Amino acid sequence: MDHNTQKVVTRFAPSPTGFMHIGGVRTALYAYLWARKHNGTFILRIEDTDKEREVAGSIEHIQESLRWLGITWDYGPDSESTPFGSCIQSERLPSYLKYAQVLIEKGLAYADPYTEEEVAAFRAKATEEKRPFLYREHRPTKTEAWDGTKPLRLKVPEIKRYTWNDAVRGELSAGEEMLDDVVLIKSDGYPTYNFAHIIDDHEMGVTHIMRADEFISSQPKFLSIYDALGFEYPTFVTLPPILRDDRTKKLGKRDGAKDILEYRNEGYLPEAMINFLALIGWNPGTDQELFNEEELINTFEISRIQRAGAAFNEEKLLWTNKQHLVKKDPAFLFEYVEKALPQSLKGASGFTEEKLRRLVPTLIERIHVAAEISATAEAGECDFAFIAPTSYDVEMLKWKTDTDVKAVVPRLQKVVSLLSEADFSSPDIIKAALMPYAEEVGKGEVFSPLRISLSGKSQSPDPFTIAYIIGLEETLSRISFACDKIGG
Ligand code: GLU
Repeated sequence: MDHNTQKVVTRFAPSPTGFMHIGGVRTALYAYLWARKHNGTFILRIEDTDKEREVAGSIEHIQESLRWLGITWDYGPDSESTPFGSCIQSERLPSYLKYAQVLIEKGLAYADPYTEEEVAAFRAKATEEKRPFLYREHRPTKTEAWDGTKPLRLKVPEIKRYTWNDAVRGELSAGEEMLDDVVLIKSDGYPTYNFAHIIDDHEMGVTHIMRADEFISSQPKFLSIYDALGFEYPTFVTLPPILRDDRTKKLGKRDGAKDILEYRNEGYLPEAMINFLALIGWNPGTDQELFNEEELINTFEISRIQRAGAAFNEEKLLWTNKQHLVKKDPAFLFEYVEKALPQSLKGASGFTEEKLRRLVPTLIERIHVAAEISATAEAGECDFAFIAPTSYDVEMLKWKTDTDVKAVVPRLQKVVSLLSEADFSSPDIIKAALMPYAEEVGKGEVFSPLRISLSGKSQSPDPFTIAYIIGLEETLSRISFACDKIGG
């Protein structure tokens, strides 16, 4: 097939058997990037021929996941019309039957005459004799016409060693023991995956098949079906497995292979997710680590997909999210933080939107993802913004050179008079207003009791940031509370 002149068509073909995890999404992303890079077509096809494994709601879930990430399809289960019919396999049965008929006429498909028990017995015998079970060794000499009540099987056109090219793995080959008379149409009338995906890819004009490595051992069987049908092979692109961070095995559900929409709920940005996923198993050949979608489309190359398994690194995901987060505008970040802030703070009597607006940059600096905002807030680390501290131990206000806590009162009083005159438009300006005095009597002597009177905690952001966030009036009230608490 000449891919230079042919329009690129790729597809993502999930089975609706549950949620989408990062492996599936990465496959979709690569197929999408390749199509967009070539102004080609990207198809979302639903492979729902195994009705027993189907999970209700999966089709919506898959679409929602891809939409969230901005992976848009030209044709999909929601398309009203396409040049090739439905994108849902269960709605394409006439196509499979048409090609089944073609194979029957060519003498390359036949009705399986055996009962399930008979096939099970062949299998058991092979196991007993420590031989692999091959159905074709039991190929019946005489067969009935296929009436749809029995499985339809391929008659492998040529038992031979197959050699083929994989765009990632290079030349591959497998012996004839990998070929068998596989089922094409099951007795329930649905095609098998093996048969259906080949008909679909052909009818949809798919030029590049990107898929997980678990399909590679079936490749000779697929090729024998292509040959029986007389179809040309598309380009096969086998993606590397996604491994756990310690690379000991494939990423499983326990290690983070969770529903992609959970990442959305945790506050990961779709652009960060895409950036991160693109780099699991592909690299641009440069040091660039941050990409927006357009850059990914321009830079992505199949030739730079790696063969070896690629590790899923959670830290890298956090880092990537942060890099994208800090680029967001203030309005976005306000909403982002507001959504994640626990009700205990939003409902506090000292809560105002204005304070929250001023808290946002400080908070964003300290986190990678929204999920950390709730953790930070629940640990009480944001209380200073909305809740005046009242229950701390006054002894904390002492600086190390103070023998008596009463010594901090005149310093705090001086701070009050300086702040009353100060411009509260930024933490730096507040700091500048106090600096000459702090340099005169000692920075720790001034800033430490100030910070603790504002936060009530041994650890908190600096006093200028707190003062800026809570405003002049609240700042003065907290200092005065501290002085009253010291007494004397
Ligand atoms: N339906 C298969 C799956 O869910 C798709 C494999 C392919 O892309 O051909 O993994």
